[in-house]
Amino acid sequence: MKNATIPYKIYLEEREMPTAWYNLRADMKTKPAPLLNPGTGKPCTAEELEHVFCADLVKQELDNDTPYFEIPEEIRSFYKMYRPSPLVRAYCLEEKLQTPAKIYYKFEGNNTSGSHKLNSASAQAYYAKKQGLVGVTTETGAGQWGTALSMACSYFGLDCKVFMVKVSYEQKPFRREVMRTYGAEVTPSPSLTTNVGKQILKEHPGTTGSLGCAISEAVEVATSTPGYRYVLGSVLNQVLLHQSIIGLETKAALDKYGVKPDIIIGCAGGGSNLGGLIAPFMGEKLRGEADYRIIAVEPASCPSFTRGVYAYDFCDTGRVCPLAKMYTLGSSFIPSANHAGGLRFHGMSSVLSELYDEGLMEARSYIQTDVFEAAVQFARVEGILPAPESSHAIRAAIDEALKCKETGEEKTIVFGLTGTGYFDLKAYEQFNDKTMTDTIPTDEDLKAGFACLPKIPQ
Ligand SMILES: *Cc1c(COP(=O)(O)O)cnc(C)c1O
Repeated sequence: MKNATIPYKIYLEEREMPTAWYNLRADMKTKPAPLLNPGTGKPCTAEELEHVFCADLVKQELDNDTPYFEIPEEIRSFYKMYRPSPLVRAYCLEEKLQTPAKIYYKFEGNNTSGSHKLNSASAQAYYAKKQGLVGVTTETGAGQWGTALSMACSYFGLDCKVFMVKVSYEQKPFRREVMRTYGAEVTPSPSLTTNVGKQILKEHPGTTGSLGCAISEAVEVATSTPGYRYVLGSVLNQVLLHQSIIGLETKAALDKYGVKPDIIIGCAGGGSNLGGLIAPFMGEKLRGEADYRIIAVEPASCPSFTRGVYAYDFCDTGRVCPLAKMYTLGSSFIPSANHAGGLRFHGMSSVLSELYDEGLMEARSYIQTDVFEAAVQFARVEGILPAPESSHAIRAAIDEALKCKETGEEKTIVFGLTGTGYFDLKAYEQFNDKTMTDTIPTDEDLKAGFACLPKIPQ
């Protein structure tokens, strides 16, 4: 028994984990549009952004040219707790579908936060600590990002203030409790603790909040409290950079077994998991080395890619953040109250928006009952209860696999399984009780959102 600990140590040292993040922007001919200062209409400078974000993260945000950023040792040590994440061949799902397609999924739910968000939360908390900050503020919708950030902040020794969309705060008390267990302070948003929160409550009394409101409150606290900065869990270039670890690991594993995917699928909220999963593959595509079909999947009730416009817009309801050029439904857009599947942000990463606009990737949307049907089908054969967000990707993967069944094509499909759904059981309950309903916004509904787009030269 003397050597009992040795295999474990070897296992740790032999982990094949990337040592650098890949910056897809370096290979893009047309770079994503820069963030604009809403006051001047000019691109935000590093100095302006450093009032809101940590300095090292601002560098990453603005750097369109450096292809690789070394992952600091401290972050790699953190990643080792739950990475590399498994790339799984979905044999049982293939069997169930009787498809000749080969289906793989990259599973990011293998940590307490239950999603891929920890990959960027740990990086952002590390840089905040390195800068000597006291704490960070953020918003959370469904709660995964807030949970991930709470975990990262407790590890690196930072205070963490989370503004949680009020409807989720009330519907997901267990998420809130996980955050508090990791030491975070959680406030339902909109709240009376900020000026923008008071303003929003005055204009919309009784509102149950939105991500856009919560962002405004978190930014206000970060910029008015000494030693604090704001951090965001999706949409930004820096977040896609950190999430590239998902794609790099996926590619390393596929290369090792000589597998080349035909179709790569991911759900899209703000675009971070999809941007991370596709990064090295899209890099090859941009450099003309390989070709892949890439599909973004979004909810029919929040269809930024499939029905939005490509324009500069605010990232938040209170309009305090920089303007980003993206596929958007307008910062005033709030998905219908019966929408349970996450992915509720009105906009989309500028990187993905540019790639989509250039026709380098596709997008499609599904109604939530179709998404949950796929979730249940997957859960019953693959042994993981998927997050509703992830289930959008499952739906598309199943549909592509069924197409292969018709045509007899043996395509290889890879999709991102971004997380687990243990905190979404209210939504599963609705689905199982057959009380879940679908709402698709009308063109009129969307027009109202587009009418609020800022008037700046596009
Ligand atoms: C946040 C989240 C998403 C969507 O965010 P992206 O930035 O679009 O990746 C998807 N799945 C899970 C499990 C999430 O927590």
